[in-house]
Amino acid sequence: MALNIKENIPLAPLTTFEIGGSAKYLVSVRSESDIREAIQWAKEKKIPYAILAGGSNVLVPDQGLDALVIRLRGDLYGFSGDIVDAWAGTNLLAAIKSMGKQGYGGWEKLAGIPGTIGGAVRGNAGAFGPEIKDFVVRVRALNAETGELRDFTNSECDFSYRHSFFKDHPEWIITRVILQLEKVESAESTKLAEATIAEREKRHLQNVRAAGSFFMNPKAPPEIVAMFEKEKKVKSREGRVPAGWLIEKAGMKGATVGGAIASLQHPNYIVNQGNATAVDVKALADKVQKAVNSQFGVALYEEAAIL
Ligand SMILES: Cc1cc2nc3c(=O)[nH]c(=O)nc-3n(C[C@H](O)[C@H](O)[C@H](O)COP(=O)(O)OP(=O)(O)OC[C@H]3O[C@@H](n4cnc5c(N)ncnc54)[C@H](O)[C@@H]3O)c2cc1C
Repeated sequence: MALNIKENIPLAPLTTFEIGGSAKYLVSVRSESDIREAIQWAKEKKIPYAILAGGSNVLVPDQGLDALVIRLRGDLYGFSGDIVDAWAGTNLLAAIKSMGKQGYGGWEKLAGIPGTIGGAVRGNAGAFGPEIKDFVVRVRALNAETGELRDFTNSECDFSYRHSFFKDHPEWIITRVILQLEKVESAESTKLAEATIAEREKRHLQNVRAAGSFFMNPKAPPEIVAMFEKEKKVKSREGRVPAGWLIEKAGMKGATVGGAIASLQHPNYIVNQGNATAVDVKALADKVQKAVNSQFGVALYEEAAIL
């Protein structure tokens, strides 16, 4: 199929941050062959390409991208019993809801994480305990450099906290995700997914101009972990402490640069108050990193991808 490549397309509306300039070229893709064709087109034009999916974990530069932006679109999946075979561009929530109606679930705590199944696999998205890795059987990915199509087992995906093999190897584009769910009561699954979304809304985790948590929860020295555990009366996981807790303790909750703010509800959400630029967001992130580092000696690393 001939691809419909568009020129000078504003990217801000395609991201939850609602920040950034235009793509020199943009193409929507719905299959592996579309992706192959798009990459070939970029190679012939000698321009770089960038992968965009749900746009919920990216910051687009203000000057835009002098590149071909390849946007994965379409809720395309099939299932056989408890096994789901989903196109990477499938919206995660749409899949959770639809599989729940068919009587398959177990992953309802992921309901409300914006974006696609492919994006979730790349960053091993998780919420309230479960992570997408808990449901992944296999991932199919296309190597943009060699054209190889390969199936990765769950262990080959090298999942860990907000990490997968694909994060370190951007030449591999995730095209399909095979998941295994459990048999559940349909009504119960719907109720659980709705309760999860309600909880997220109550905690102000939803519907904000942000990219979710801007920084990953860092590993911290034992004395900082002990301080966190004593104060919050919860056990640290893997020696990590919440970045939001550190940001608040470093006095950066509510800090602003231009139109960007370290959220008052969730200091680890950098929020676009309406007129923030990517430069504002990066300057605020830098300020927050420096404050946390100088107060606690802990480095914060971005979770959001800067395209
Ligand atoms: C309000 C809000 C709440 C959030 N809450 C959570 C949460 O609770 N837990 C959580 O883990 N995250 C959360 N996030 C972050 C975000 O939703 C997840 O990281 C999500 O999985 C990103 O998916 P996406 O499709 O939007 O990816 P995008 O933002 O489009 O892309 C993110 C990165 O992945 C790459 N990428 C995307 N698709 C592919 C692919 N198929 N192959 C290779 N690379 C790809 C892109 O190039 C980019 O580098 C939240 C975000 C927002 C805005």
